[in-house]
Amino acid sequence: MKIKNALEKNTKQAIVNKIVNYLDKNPGENVDKIFSAIKLLTKDKSALAQIEFVENYYNNDKSKHEFIQDILKNTDTKCLKKFFTNFFANANWYAGPKRQKYMDEENTKIPFVMLLSPSMRCPLHCKGCYASSYSKKDDIPPEEVDRIIGEARDLGIYYIIILGGEPFFNDYLLDIYEKYDDVMFTPFTSGLLLNEKIADRIKKCGNVIPMLSIEGFENDTDARRGKGTYQKVLKAMDMLHERGILFGVSSAVTRTNINTVLSDEFTDMLIEKGSKMSWYFLFMPVNGEDEDFNMMLTAEQRDYLGKRAREIRANKPYFTLDFFNDAPYVGGCIAGKYYFHVNSKEDVEPCIFSHFSTVNLKGRHLIDAFRDPFFKKLRSIQPYNKNMLRPCMMIDNTNVIINVCKEVGAKPDDSGAEKMLHDNEFHKKITKSAEDFVPYAEKTWDEVFKKKGNDNFAKG
Ligand code: SF4
Repeated sequence: MKIKNALEKNTKQAIVNKIVNYLDKNPGENVDKIFSAIKLLTKDKSALAQIEFVENYYNNDKSKHEFIQDILKNTDTKCLKKFFTNFFANANWYAGPKRQKYMDEENTKIPFVMLLSPSMRCPLHCKGCYASSYSKKDDIPPEEVDRIIGEARDLGIYYIIILGGEPFFNDYLLDIYEKYDDVMFTPFTSGLLLNEKIADRIKKCGNVIPMLSIEGFENDTDARRGKGTYQKVLKAMDMLHERGILFGVSSAVTRTNINTVLSDEFTDMLIEKGSKMSWYFLFMPVNGEDEDFNMMLTAEQRDYLGKRAREIRANKPYFTLDFFNDAPYVGGCIAGKYYFHVNSKEDVEPCIFSHFSTVNLKGRHLIDAFRDPFFKKLRSIQPYNKNMLRPCMMIDNTNVIINVCKEVGAKPDDSGAEKMLHDNEFHKKITKSAEDFVPYAEKTWDEVFKKKGNDNFAKG
């Protein structure tokens, strides 16, 4: 058995080396060979089907052909190679079996990605930001951040999203990216602190794909994030683009900025600036204030967000991800199963928006959170709804979070989460907005998704 495993490992490594070689010289000319080699590495049937799906798009769809060629030709070679080795080879092919071993041996699911908020310090004070409900005082000390990332990698987690707070507030994080050079990092940043020196370090690391926050054109972005922010984000994009660093943008979609954020004009501007993807998040009522509910999308807008995200993805040389409306592709809610969040107090939470926890990492190993009944319970009842366009345990299936917290003793980490569990008025409002969405979700689930999501992923 050991010999068979060693042979398989060597074969895999030889194929990975071959692909890296293609990426080193003339990647744009070698796309067919790259696809063939990737298929050789992929054993899992559904992953193989996805690769063939992308390959088919590349061969037959003009905008996707252009998109892939642009990435291959205009990305810095080291960044391109790191994206492939860290994200595809390490996080998937190498670490997949490593994570699976815990599942097979002890029914413990090791998530694919960790979200880590080392600090909540930020130069901005954006309306509705989940970071605003944490204390800015208790940052995770750098040596603890190092320990948590080391433990995550040992467990097979090779993709880490850095949140906060502003990730570039802490210089030592660049040393961390350098130290864990086989891991892929995505800091979500306002872009305000990016300068030429930091951009040079990111390029040197190669394993960092920043996501810049932007809420539309100048008026919308500055209204939510503060005056002057928009111009600074554009400047940050230029610094990254000039160096061939892969980057994308993230937008919190609200009742007021939705039409701008989803417009052709705005998306084309981002493509022109060098962004490769947009990640759309519904504005969430995490603080439970009236103002929050007034910024939340209406049911019709939430449905429209999904429609436009799919349209842009299909028709432009660009990738879009809609955190909620794309849930059917990943089997519904992924909280505590494929991803989780460690906040700046070191509480382990199932999702960036669900501020509930049973395990704090001070003095404890990361695996304790995955072995805990909280995450196991969530996984055992996912998907929470057979219509995977209504995936959420907080805003769609509003009793789930209350019942699970009661059953496993999970505690709220902040006042917004406290309201979600114990404030009847809040519960009524969120349940009403969930009910308003039902007819839209049913129609799209039926007409667009033919009542079918990714059941394999749903099972975990
Ligand atoms: S709990 Fe809601 S917000 Fe969090 S991952 Fe699940 S669906 Fe998304």
